[in-house]
Amino acid sequence: MSPPNVQAQARAPGAHLADRPAILQHATQRLLIGDQWGPAASGKSFDSFNPATGEVIARLAEGDASDIDRAVQAARLAFNGEWSQWKPYDRQRLLLRIHDLIDKNFEELALLETLDMGAPVQRTLGLRRYISQLIMFYAGQTINVAGATLPNSLPGNITTLSLKAPVGVVGGIIPWNGPLISQWWILGPVLATGCTAVMKPAEDASLSVLRIAELLREAGMPAGVVNVVTGQGGVAGAALAEHPDVDRIAFTGSTETGRKIIRASASNIKRLQLELGGKSPDILFADADLDVAVPGAAMAAFNNTGQICYAGTRLFVQRSVQEQVLERLTTFSRTLRVGNGIDPKVQLGPIVSAKQLDNVMRYIDIGSKEGATLASGGKRLQGGDFGEGFFVEPTVFGNVSNDMTIAQEEIFGPVISVIPFDDAEHALSLANDIDYGLGGAVWTRSLSTAMKVSHGIKAGTIWVNCYGQIDPGVGFGGYRMSGYGWKGGPQHVDAFLYQKAVYLNLD
Ligand code: ADP
Repeated sequence: MSPPNVQAQARAPGAHLADRPAILQHATQRLLIGDQWGPAASGKSFDSFNPATGEVIARLAEGDASDIDRAVQAARLAFNGEWSQWKPYDRQRLLLRIHDLIDKNFEELALLETLDMGAPVQRTLGLRRYISQLIMFYAGQTINVAGATLPNSLPGNITTLSLKAPVGVVGGIIPWNGPLISQWWILGPVLATGCTAVMKPAEDASLSVLRIAELLREAGMPAGVVNVVTGQGGVAGAALAEHPDVDRIAFTGSTETGRKIIRASASNIKRLQLELGGKSPDILFADADLDVAVPGAAMAAFNNTGQICYAGTRLFVQRSVQEQVLERLTTFSRTLRVGNGIDPKVQLGPIVSAKQLDNVMRYIDIGSKEGATLASGGKRLQGGDFGEGFFVEPTVFGNVSNDMTIAQEEIFGPVISVIPFDDAEHALSLANDIDYGLGGAVWTRSLSTAMKVSHGIKAGTIWVNCYGQIDPGVGFGGYRMSGYGWKGGPQHVDAFLYQKAVYLNLD
C-alpha cells in the first residue's frame, strides 16, 4: 500500500499544533451522501484511535451496503446532472479553488492526519508542496481530455475520429497509510474528467478524507460529485466493489484485498486500478557514495514507519561492503527519533493500529527464528513517553537470505533486511525472485550499472541514487502482484475516460 514516499521537510510548528482540528467535534459519525451529512442508515458507529496514545479521538459512522447504495445513487444522479454540463475550464477553476482552500487549511489537515494515523507532523506538514503540485497537475489535465482524428482505409468518404467520455461513477477505496495524499490520486482524475465518486476511507484513518470532503463542498463542488462512506472494508468496501452501478474501482491496499476486489468487480465488469503490496529491492553497489546511500536506503525502508507499499525493505548489499554498510545502517537507525508525531522533532511515528503492531512484532520474531541476525532494534517501545502507543524500534536484520519469510512477505513496519550479493547478475536474480513488482532502486556511481539494473529490475518504478520521489506528471505504477493501472501522468487521467470510435459517412 502506499502514499508517495516524499521526503518530508521539517518546519517549525505554529500555534495551530496546540489546537485540535474542529472536525473531531463536528464531522464524525457522519457520511456525505449528495448534499447531506448524516449518520449511517443503521445508526451504527465505531471508534477511531490515535495510534500514538491508543486514545479514541473520534467516532465514525459505520456505513454498510445500504449507505453505499444511497451514495452510488447520489453519484449517478450527479454524473447525469448539472456536473455533466460543466466545461473543462469550469472544472479547472473548481480544482484551483479547491487547491487554494486545501492550502489555506493545510496545517489543520496535517495535524488531523498525524492524530489519525500517526505520521509525524514533520512529515505531514512537509507534504504541503507535494499535494499542491498534485492538485495543480490534475487541474491542468482538465483541458487535455481529447480524442483524435484518425486516418482510415475504408472505401467511400468516411471520416474516423475518436471521442473521450468520462467512465462514470468511480469507487475510491483508500488505504490508511497516507490518505491525505492517496485520496488525490482518485479525486484529481475524477474531478479533471467529469466523473463522480464514492470514497470509502480506511477504518483506521478516515478523518482527512471527511475534512477534505467538507472543503470540496465549500469550494463549490456540486452535491453528489464526491460522496464519502466510512465503514468496515469487508462490509462498506465490499459493497462498493460489488455495486452494479459503479463503473470503475480505484483501489490501494493489500494484495489479498485486491484479489477480493477483482472477484467482486466481475458482477458488472468494472474497470480496475489496483495498487497493491510490495517488497521492493534496493541494490547498493560497493562503488556507491555510502554517505548518501546508507541514509537513503535506511529511509527507503523506515519512512512513514515502513508503512509504504513501495518501501525498500530488501537491501541487497555488495559483499565487499556488507559489514561496513550494516554497521553504518545500525548506527543511523539508532539516531532516528521515534515518538508521538505531534512533537516536531519526531521522525518516526507509531504503527497505525494494535493489529498492525502485532503483525510487525510477529514478523520480527519470525526473522530471528529463521536465522537472520537482529543487528538493531526489534523491540516494542512502551511506557514513559511512549505510553500505550503502538511504537516499535527501527529494526535492521543482517545475514538474511532472500527466501526467508521476512524477505518475501510485506511487513508494513520499520524493518529492513540486509542481503549480500556478488555482482549485478546475482543482485538482479535475487531482486526479481519475488512475487511483487512495485518499486526498486540502485545506488552506484556507474551509469552503466545504474542502467543495467534499471532495465533488469522487474518493477513499475525504479530510483537511481535516490528513493521514493514521485512527480505527479511522471507517476508510478506496479507490476505482477503489485497491481496494475498507472497513477499520475496523462495516462492516469485517460484511465478515467472511455473511448468511442466514430465512423462518419460524409457521402
Ligand atoms: P490492510 O490489510 O493493510 O488494512 P486492506 O487492503 O485491507 O489493507 O485495506 C485497504 C482498504 O481496503 C481499506 O479502505 C479497507 O477498508 C478496504 N477493504 C478491506 N477489505 C475489503 C474488501 N473485502 N472489499 C473492499 N474493500 C476492502
